Amino acid sequence: MTTHKAHCLILPYPGQGHVNPMVQFSKRLQSKGVKITIVPTKSFLKNMQELPTSMSIEAISDGYDDCGLEQAGSYAAYLTRFEEVGSITLAQLIQKLTNSECPVNCIVYDPFLPWAVEVAKNFRLVIAAFFTQNCAVDNIYYHVHKGVLKLPPTQADQEIIIPGLSSTMEASDVPSFAINPEAEVILELLMNQFSNLDKVDCVLINSFYELEKEEIDWMSKLYPIKTIGPAIPSMYLDKRLHDDKEYELNMFKPMTDECLNLLNHQPISSVLYASFGSLAKVEAEQMEELAWGLKNSNKKFLWVVRSAEAPKLPKNFLDELTSEEGLVVSWCPQLQVLEHKSIGCFLTHCGWNSTLEAICLGVPMVTMPQWSDQPTNTKLVQDVWEMGVRAKQDDKGIVRREVIEECIKLVMEEKGKVIRENAKKWKELARNAVDEGGSSDKNIEEFVSKLVTIS
Ligand code: UDP
Repeated sequence: MTTHKAHCLILPYPGQGHVNPMVQFSKRLQSKGVKITIVPTKSFLKNMQELPTSMSIEAISDGYDDCGLEQAGSYAAYLTRFEEVGSITLAQLIQKLTNSECPVNCIVYDPFLPWAVEVAKNFRLVIAAFFTQNCAVDNIYYHVHKGVLKLPPTQADQEIIIPGLSSTMEASDVPSFAINPEAEVILELLMNQFSNLDKVDCVLINSFYELEKEEIDWMSKLYPIKTIGPAIPSMYLDKRLHDDKEYELNMFKPMTDECLNLLNHQPISSVLYASFGSLAKVEAEQMEELAWGLKNSNKKFLWVVRSAEAPKLPKNFLDELTSEEGLVVSWCPQLQVLEHKSIGCFLTHCGWNSTLEAICLGVPMVTMPQWSDQPTNTKLVQDVWEMGVRAKQDDKGIVRREVIEECIKLVMEEKGKVIRENAKKWKELARNAVDEGGSSDKNIEEFVSKLVTIS
């Protein structure tokens, strides 16, 4: 029988970009002797293409077991019921596992679900919040929560100085929720991440010290911060966990063979990879500009357009697209793609996971942020880490085809040399952070020791 040092429940918010890093962090804990139980919602679990074999899974209910958020009608209704039903079913689960061979003594929860803290307190668990955004973004939300900063900023051209950030921001660099009709509810959800953060034992962040030194030092004065990232499969970083090759809870089925068939036959750094993640809904006009921007760049491209987004592609685009020009797929194995030698640039919406993956694999970026934390990630990529360029919108909020074409050429051709060198530098630093003795590895070790001593 295996004996474990501790037993940790992992409670992610049910979204691909939240589940991925939390499951990856779990694998690191597991490799250091901690038993893991992943706690998704029943509705999220229903949509999974496959399930991890190496960890136990116990689902709770968000009150909408058939289709989750879609079933709820509104985000506000969803979050209210999730808190009600989620609190009860989480407590029942902890109770059940308390009587098991290896009782639960810790919860790592997503601060999108702050009610988990109250539930865990009742069972005297060690409590750790896991922020799936980077530290700069967390800092901005903290200041909005404290009432020091207002989102959206009142003046478009105003320079925004935020304590603890390594660069000044403009309105177009701070998180934006304008395109979502439920912007207020979402902003409240983000502020609530801090509502009871003073009650937790540890605040984990999916970033690494070398990437955000100033931000991390500043936030560490307020909370017991530990950066533990990049939380991506070990085989793309330090290669110490041999079985850890992929994210294991996938909402969509990747078209792996099609993607690799294309990439395997191309020259080094010659292909552009484009994807806007698992959630973004791109306007039809933007989709058209993007399609022509990709075509006109004259670089071979691999473009992920999710099935729900495909009807917005320009008429006849797919029929007329030749294999010489590129390939459109509904989902791809993104890490495998970014790691591939033939990839030369990532055109991305700058979701934090995608950004971090590009950093880990040393792929320079052209960014087209859509909303949420993506504008801030973009600002960091372009001006702080200097490993990409932002394709700027016009007054109508659309990035035009000429701008897209120009940015792709800038990154992939002669002028992009410095950007490409910086990308290589960050790749190295990311790997060092999680490798033995690196900043994130040490923090994970310390976290595990804390679990053993507090519990
Ligand atoms: N992803 C993938 N295949 C795709 C597109 C995306 O596996 O074709 C993964 C990607 O590797 C990342 C996640 O989906 O881990 C998207 O997370 P991110 O934070 O970038 O964006 P979100 O989907 O939350 O907007």
